[in-house]
Amino acid sequence: MKVEMVDLKSQYNKIKAEVNTGIQECLDNTAFINGPAVKEFQKDFEKYLNVKHVIPCANGTDALQIAMMALDLKPGDEVICPAFTYVATAEVIGLLGLKPIMVDVDENTFNIELKDLEKHLTPDTKAIVPVHLYGQSADMENIIEFAKKHNLFVIEDNAQAIGSDYTFTDGTVKKTGTIGDIGCTSFFPSKNLGCYGDGGALMTNNDDLAIKIRMIANHGQQKKYHHKVLGCNSRLDTIQAAVLKVKLKYLDEYSTARNKMATYYDKNLKTVAEIQVPERAQNSTHVFHQYTLKVKNGKRDELQKYLGEKNIPSMVYYPIPLYKQEAFQQYVEGNFRLPVTEKLCSEVISLPIHTEFDQEVADFIISEIKNFFSNN
Ligand SMILES: *Cc1c(COP(=O)(O)O)cnc(C)c1O
Repeated sequence: MKVEMVDLKSQYNKIKAEVNTGIQECLDNTAFINGPAVKEFQKDFEKYLNVKHVIPCANGTDALQIAMMALDLKPGDEVICPAFTYVATAEVIGLLGLKPIMVDVDENTFNIELKDLEKHLTPDTKAIVPVHLYGQSADMENIIEFAKKHNLFVIEDNAQAIGSDYTFTDGTVKKTGTIGDIGCTSFFPSKNLGCYGDGGALMTNNDDLAIKIRMIANHGQQKKYHHKVLGCNSRLDTIQAAVLKVKLKYLDEYSTARNKMATYYDKNLKTVAEIQVPERAQNSTHVFHQYTLKVKNGKRDELQKYLGEKNIPSMVYYPIPLYKQEAFQQYVEGNFRLPVTEKLCSEVISLPIHTEFDQEVADFIISEIKNFFSNN
């Protein structure tokens, strides 16, 4: 049996006619840069997210960088982010001459931990970047309250949780990415809403920030050849927008299918003593960008090797805490460590998860995991 980590091919086959028509239209009207599909997708996405402004850009990393640029932070200002995340989250902070302050995460939700966040607050703290890791929201109600109290900006890294709903205590429901000052997302092919190349977007309900973000993403100009600030060149490709316009219509279906596979994994794997199936956060729906187990008997790497031998792909997101990366040594003391992040880096393993649920594939993966633990 051939198992893929992310099955983009069967997904494409189901929407082939629509996608091909969309791409063909771009080719026929040769509006490759800022063609009609970009604006159309932007409008559809604003409606889906129930947010005032979506600003498409070239990729998720650019989105984070542009968000940071739009807040007028000064060199040396501190920006708090989790240490257990993809490098892009912290990388852009450092690139802009700001100081990434890495904090620990909750061992069950994998998202930023409030108590550790509070510990790292200083007079130089200016912003927080919660990451909605693996597909469910960070504890946004408390993060927003904390940010308000200390006058901090909140930039959501929503690259992994697009479509997820967060419910506040008063019953208000918001899509992740639309809760903080600015939300950022990525349309990298394997993301839940992925295109067929690179893409990204920022979202905000703040009109002034939206104007600034658009300007920065377009060489700092609002009027052609009048450059107000230093910006960059970050656009969503028209062909990618055409793909996204089609895929957005199916995003909720995809999330449902991912949940179906996750629930099936849960049901069949929760009886295995050596592993812990993912916990659901209280106030968030889960869109299962990743289905991530914790291996409790120290045999994560052996399990991964075993699965590999059975042609079952798996991934470790992420094997090394950011503060142990060479590139980040300038921001931490040599002995800096965060216990939960370190533990997770040695325990987590993500299994294949698809937008088309195939029970035969799931059964095969489950039986091999059980085989491994019955001998280990
Ligand atoms: C994918 C990802 C990004 C970066 O997105 P790109 O489009 O690859 O630049 C940023 N943060 C997180 C958490 C991601 O998963």
